[in-house]
Amino acid sequence: MVELRGVRKSFGPLEVLRGVDLRVAPGEVTVILGPSGSGKSTLLRTVNHLEKVDSGSISVDGELVGYRRVGDRLYELPEREILRQRTKIGFVFQNFNLFPHLTVHQNVTEAPLSAQRRPKAEVNALATRLLERVGLADKARAYPGRLSGGQQQRVAIARALALEPKVILFDEPTSALDPELVGEVLDAVRDLAGSGTTMIVVTHEIGFAREVADTVVFMDEGRIVEQGPPAEVLDAPRHERTRLFLSKVL
Ligand code: ATP
Ligand code: MG
Repeated sequence: MVELRGVRKSFGPLEVLRGVDLRVAPGEVTVILGPSGSGKSTLLRTVNHLEKVDSGSISVDGELVGYRRVGDRLYELPEREILRQRTKIGFVFQNFNLFPHLTVHQNVTEAPLSAQRRPKAEVNALATRLLERVGLADKARAYPGRLSGGQQQRVAIARALALEPKVILFDEPTSALDPELVGEVLDAVRDLAGSGTTMIVVTHEIGFAREVADTVVFMDEGRIVEQGPPAEVLDAPRHERTRLFLSKVL
């Protein structure tokens, strides 16, 4: 479903991803943990080609992301093809990134209407269903500025789902929230996990990882140090760096 092979990425002299291999099977939830600066956000951003890799390759749903292969050479896809690919890859950001000038309902319908050109009646019905699913049916006509952070993040989740993506990437979806709002957003993410949505979630919520992840990945200094089921990586880590990290966040 999602496959990264030998992904490398530098910013100037700083090598941020140093050869990352990762596979996420359909319906699986992979949680990525790691210290600040270890490359977690950069890794997620390469998956939808918000960052170009320097070498290695990424495929989603059997399709190479960002490039076309001709013989043994890769050619970057034109912008419109990249935008089409991104409709298969949902992204939920730390700071919600809702469109402030659109209502909650319009935030959810915008991309299916403009990027996917789906029929308006169908998209409206879908948005209504998704807002119900995240518990925000009564906020459909409100503007994001009038919502709490937890409500805004649930709109962002509904917006990502509206594209019916093959995978949803979450970059610390609860870290900008007041503590009392974390639970409602984790509940929404948990609900998706239960319904078989393929997801990659960067988070520091270890309890959530233990409960929801099929695979936990620990990253440090641009590499995957270890990965496996939560019971292994969280409860019986094999690497000293993982143990050290967990001792600080638990
Ligand atoms: P955090 O837990 O703090 O979010 P992270 O694991 O997500 O950290 P990244 O945001 O991927 O880490 O950043 C990895 C490194 O790459 C950091 O040193 C960061 O400063 C650097 N970096 C990220 N984006 C850029 C950029 N566009 N230009 C230059 N350096 C960057
Ligand atoms: Mg980050």
